[in-house]
Amino acid sequence: MLGAPLPRDLPGPPTARFARERERMVEEQLVRRGITDARVLEAMRKVPRHLFVEEALRDRAYGDHPLPIGEGQTISQPYIVGIMTQLLHLTGTEKVLEIGSGSGYQTAVLAELARRVCSVERIASLAARARATLEAMGYTNVWVRTADGTFGWPDEAPFDRILVSAAAPAVPEPLFDQLVEGGRMVLPVGDPFAQTLTVVDRVGGEKKISADSGCVFVKLIGKYGWEA
Ligand code: SAH
Repeated sequence: MLGAPLPRDLPGPPTARFARERERMVEEQLVRRGITDARVLEAMRKVPRHLFVEEALRDRAYGDHPLPIGEGQTISQPYIVGIMTQLLHLTGTEKVLEIGSGSGYQTAVLAELARRVCSVERIASLAARARATLEAMGYTNVWVRTADGTFGWPDEAPFDRILVSAAAPAVPEPLFDQLVEGGRMVLPVGDPFAQTLTVVDRVGGEKKISADSGCVFVKLIGKYGWEA
């Protein structure tokens, strides 16, 4: 179609090459490693991950690794985002609490799959950037605030799902308190250098805990996390 404008991402370069890289990321890093939830795969095929990192790193945005996002923090490896999101079993109706907005990439994936996402980030500059990026992409079901997320978000509680994307020494009690009966929380639990992806279901008011794979996250810093 002569003269038709090329589709563009906001506010970056033309999308065609990044869309191909995204497709390859989904096939090679997610499908091949056992991510099977079709909605998760669809969301990760859609969200323009390269727009959540600084321009100089965009060519590496779809690689099989985390990347720096400033303030000593990282955007998680695509596979980790895939597995954690899959473990949340989202159907589209849920209210989700996320702790550790970082770049906002995981937030965007959640926003594609849930009704509403409340995300807490302790570093104000990261929260501001994540908020601006998500807004520029047109997400209207996402709220980002700056606070110590180990307290949860009491005014918005309870939540159907909670995702923590920083390493906790133990399940933060206020987060469990803000989970609905039958709800589920996914978080890395362990020491600062190695953790286990942990699934906590709330059944009859009690924690039902199961362990998934090993993982490595930056520290969850706060009252119910690690000391700064
Ligand atoms: N999911 C993010 C990755 C975030 S890295 C992404 O896709 O980009 C973990 C983030 O957790 C960091 O930004 C860090 O500042 C934040 N964090 C650590 N402790 C926190 C706390 N107590 N409350 C809120 N955010 C916290």
